[in-house]
Amino acid sequence: MSVLLPGIEGRIRSIQERMKAACERSSRGPGEVRLLAVSKTFPASAVEEAAAAGLRAFGENYAQEGCEKVDWFRENRPGLKLEWHFIGPLQSNKTRMVAERFDWVQSVNRMKIARRLSEQRPQDLPDLNVLVEVNIDGEASKSGLAPQEAVAFALEASKLPRLRVRGFMAIPAPASDPASQAGPFKAMRSLFLSAQEAGLPVDTLSMGMSGDFEEAIACGSTMVRIGSAIFGPRDYGPGH
Ligand SMILES: *Cc1c(COP(=O)(O)O)cnc(C)c1O
Repeated sequence: MSVLLPGIEGRIRSIQERMKAACERSSRGPGEVRLLAVSKTFPASAVEEAAAAGLRAFGENYAQEGCEKVDWFRENRPGLKLEWHFIGPLQSNKTRMVAERFDWVQSVNRMKIARRLSEQRPQDLPDLNVLVEVNIDGEASKSGLAPQEAVAFALEASKLPRLRVRGFMAIPAPASDPASQAGPFKAMRSLFLSAQEAGLPVDTLSMGMSGDFEEAIACGSTMVRIGSAIFGPRDYGPGH
């Protein structure tokens, strides 16, 4: 049964129930899939509400905005231990600010970016968790490595100090029906398995968003990235 609470907390509860049901349908344990709340364009107060509802992992797409939010929480809520994931396109002139603040970068898709993150990760912080971004459906407009290059890239990046390659991330194009959505998700799953066979200790397959997370869970996702279904529609004002 759905608990009908208004606002961010109510939407989180409903997503959690749907995630649990999707896990059950695929005979997966409810703890096998993590929920990353994508807070891009939303203020720190929205993140606080989600944190009050129990969430700890948040995703940001824009370096400047994300770093400001991380800093705001460090300064104003020092007792609240949040885990920050950078999930957007990352330019080389922004790698340092991200390496100094974030816990994960999910959008690593060039060796130059991986090297800079490795060099710029401060010595006193734990290794930076990284995911290799894969352009799984080959859309020309999208960033990410070609699937056939992704495992070799992950092996190469895993040799860099201060980085910990945890797996792969993909943003497949929305499909009109669940059956055609499954194709790219299943392709990601086999890529993930071949990386494990190649000896990489990867444990994270980040796929599934507000519109398709149940299908992603059915296909083996271990982390879903949910924005609008938690925080509501986004308003891309100036600066985005
Ligand atoms: C914005 C974004 C999301 C969240 O999208 P919703 O459809 O709002 O859930 C997830 N992943 C990435 C990489 C994004 O940029």
